[in-house]
Amino acid sequence: METRISGSMFQKARKVIPGGVNSPVRACRSVGCDPLFIKRAAGASLFDVDGNEFLDFVGSWGPMIMGHAHPAIIKAICQAAQDGTSFGAPTPAEIDLASLVVEAVSSIEKVRFVNSGTEATMSAVRLARGYTGRKTVVKFDGCYHGHADSFLVKAGSGVITLGIPGSPGVPEDIVRNTVSIPYNNLDILEKTLRNASLEIACVIVEPVAGNMGCVLPAPDFLSTLRALTRVLGIVLIFDEVITGFRLSYGGAQEVYGVSPDLTCLGKIIGGGLPVGAYGGKAEIMDCIAPDGPVYQAGTLSGNPLAMAAGIAALKLLQKQDFYNELDRKSAWLAGRLQDIAERVGLSVQINRAGSLMTLFFTSEPVTDFTSAIKSNTDLYGRHYRQMLSRGIYLAPSQFEVAFISAAHTIDDLEKTAEMTEWSFKKLLEI
Ligand SMILES: *Cc1c(COP(=O)(O)O)cnc(C)c1O
Repeated sequence: METRISGSMFQKARKVIPGGVNSPVRACRSVGCDPLFIKRAAGASLFDVDGNEFLDFVGSWGPMIMGHAHPAIIKAICQAAQDGTSFGAPTPAEIDLASLVVEAVSSIEKVRFVNSGTEATMSAVRLARGYTGRKTVVKFDGCYHGHADSFLVKAGSGVITLGIPGSPGVPEDIVRNTVSIPYNNLDILEKTLRNASLEIACVIVEPVAGNMGCVLPAPDFLSTLRALTRVLGIVLIFDEVITGFRLSYGGAQEVYGVSPDLTCLGKIIGGGLPVGAYGGKAEIMDCIAPDGPVYQAGTLSGNPLAMAAGIAALKLLQKQDFYNELDRKSAWLAGRLQDIAERVGLSVQINRAGSLMTLFFTSEPVTDFTSAIKSNTDLYGRHYRQMLSRGIYLAPSQFEVAFISAAHTIDDLEKTAEMTEWSFKKLLEI
């Protein structure tokens, strides 16, 4: 595989951008190679600047559920752009996308658009604190909720990948108001939430974790969390930035039948443009300015191009049987990979929820952060490089998910399975 042009671009990028990248995991450090510079993408394929083509399982980290450059989404963006790109005043498209979100997600009565998932979670927590008058945020080890100060405690995604415990630059005073506890541990959950001295404003959770790799909620985890927070007057926030419009049209909360007070969205709802949103019960949402005292604002919030892309994306997802079909394809791939691993004698764990999947290089079940980090990241790195050399573009970290899109065909997945078999055998040779 020729990577000369990417290599020289990376050198140039490093001179003007820290680490050469605008988001850390993109630098590919944990898998032992340099990043490829992408020129364009279409459907399930990515094309780099050296002319290599890859079958893409990153999907821009989640938004690309329809595949890249879907004609209906591109058309909507181009049409919107003709009429101007930002006005800083209300537009009809904001009502349309808000209405689609309110109809889709049963716990959301009102929704506010922002520009990223980070802004959504940060604003939802501020709102929960303003609403309850309490200070503490409870999160779970290995969950990632964007890069706002209060979440950088035992966080997932790039924070695990780079092996940093928290982050310098986040004052002790802020971290003191965040409590991070193990995912899926009901005893610790109950003890923590019942500790009145903590003055807990909210619990924020990824209902299916995607940022320590894919980790499913244990059977009673979400319902217990809901029951306890309800009794204790704690605001329950589902961070559905990945799972929203991914696991079903109504998100993880529809799949698991658990209704949070607030929901954070992002990724898919922007159709590939920068968008985030937070929404929930009107009683809580009405505490936001200008109706209420909790301040939150944004120059480009509700941006007309982003709204147009989001509306086009959600309409595509309304197609009959869309999620069943995506689930069937994803289950087929997971089954093939499981068979291959058993046949070649490599012990791995395949965790999957709908079109989110992680292959962990470990022999023990992965149910939380502690079990996730037992994975052999050196093996993952070798597997990643081998797959890349054969045209399969996986996430450059063990602690991320593979995103399967509507654009992946069964042939694409079969090719992926064949390459995986080749890669597994090669891993066992040494
Ligand atoms: C990606 C992600 C975020 C942050 O979204 P950005 O748009 O990257 O700021 C928050 N929560 C979860 C669960 C995510 O996966």
